Amino acid sequence: MIKNYRKTKILATIGPSSEKITKIEKLILSGVDAFRINCSHIADFQFKNYIENIRKVEKKLKKPIGILIDLQGPKLRIGEIENNMPLKRGQKLLLINNKKSSKPNEVPLPEEKVFKSVKVNHPIFIDDGKIKLKVLKVYKNIIETKVISEGILKSKKGINLPETVLKNSALTSADKKNVKKAIELGVDWIALSFIQSPEDIKDLRKICKKNVSIMAKIEKPTALNHINKITELADGLMIARGDLGVELPIQDVPSWQKRIIREARMQGKPVVVSTQMLESMITSKTPTRAEVSDVATAVFEGSDAVMLSAESAIGDNPELAVKMMDKIAHSVEKNPNYSSILLAQLEETPDSTPDAIATASRTLATELNSPVIVCYTESGSTGIKVSRVRPKQMILTVTPIVETARKLTLVWGVKCIVQKDANNLEEMIKMTKAYSKKEKIIKKGEKMVITAGLPLKKLGTTNLIRVIKID
Ligand code: PEP
Repeated sequence: MIKNYRKTKILATIGPSSEKITKIEKLILSGVDAFRINCSHIADFQFKNYIENIRKVEKKLKKPIGILIDLQGPKLRIGEIENNMPLKRGQKLLLINNKKSSKPNEVPLPEEKVFKSVKVNHPIFIDDGKIKLKVLKVYKNIIETKVISEGILKSKKGINLPETVLKNSALTSADKKNVKKAIELGVDWIALSFIQSPEDIKDLRKICKKNVSIMAKIEKPTALNHINKITELADGLMIARGDLGVELPIQDVPSWQKRIIREARMQGKPVVVSTQMLESMITSKTPTRAEVSDVATAVFEGSDAVMLSAESAIGDNPELAVKMMDKIAHSVEKNPNYSSILLAQLEETPDSTPDAIATASRTLATELNSPVIVCYTESGSTGIKVSRVRPKQMILTVTPIVETARKLTLVWGVKCIVQKDANNLEEMIKMTKAYSKKEKIIKKGEKMVITAGLPLKKLGTTNLIRVIKID
């Protein structure tokens, strides 16, 4: 088996602590499979520089690296207040549709859509839920509220409206500009923030067509109501536990994490668990026991990828955090029960030829003691189908398209190589045999299970399964 082969992928957020070429290289060598660029924390188009640096290292290391751009979405904020405002439980507070305010009982909220959407009794959370308000009355440009959880209110703090369905798309005009530019620069995944309904995915799909994969960030209770359809329309999911933990009672987040992973796995869509995974490593060289356990739980649940946020973007120890995640994932994956736990979580298989072939390839590889399942793919779909059944064997995905290889960096168990376009299947098999022997993935006398879609250039047609013996 190839050295350091790990099934669970590591997605690391890039930022001031990790943007330099030398640092990016160290992070990849420590275990990063794909980078996330968070538009909430960068200036307009600053991602150009990040993308160029990542691609330079990718070229040097000859290893496909995924890039995910995380759109800011419609993050709501209060306006400017002159002085910090201490709020007492029970006091009345007016939110006014304005940019500024200097009156003691008034808070500016320059977000017209909130005034159109919020209803009596809806909760309004400010500053990650540190301050909680309840809506008493709604007028055209004023919302009258009562303070439920007190605190000190500061200018420009973010607000969350867990029960309010906003009459707007998750895609802002700034997001649209970023999407256009990011596609031009060759990103592989686009993450859409604060989605509320399946329509939000359709809106994004319209502007990015098939050029890029869409990851739906699940961070609002309203999205949870449509999780099945959102999963169907998106190419992957991210469990954005930061905002989800503000909008939902925090104790409900772990159960939702399980539910969302299960939905993604059922539908064969990659799922990323994110936020505060090794939070203490922003400043510390070692994580807490609870953080290690959190990462291990996500791996045991069969998530495709685990994510580093501030740990790798602005932390003191990005490399150590990546190495820690790598070690935790390896340790869980070595657990003798890991494979059976993953299989037990997969309740049913869709009734389709590609899904049946994927299951058959796992059975054949197990019966024949084969160390590897090879998938030939143009779009990546054969590799994703085989990944869905979580085989013990390595999933070696072979594609002539580098963009496909980059996309698959977030898919569980898939090691993807770019192999030059062959004229026919026999030629492809010959090249893969040579590569697998050279990389010690397989040895003489062992059997290789191969899946593909014929005709080769037709997308999404996994319909072939074959076994070959290595001579
Ligand atoms: C989150 O809320 O957990 C998340 C990943 O999104 P962001 O970092 O953009 O807040």
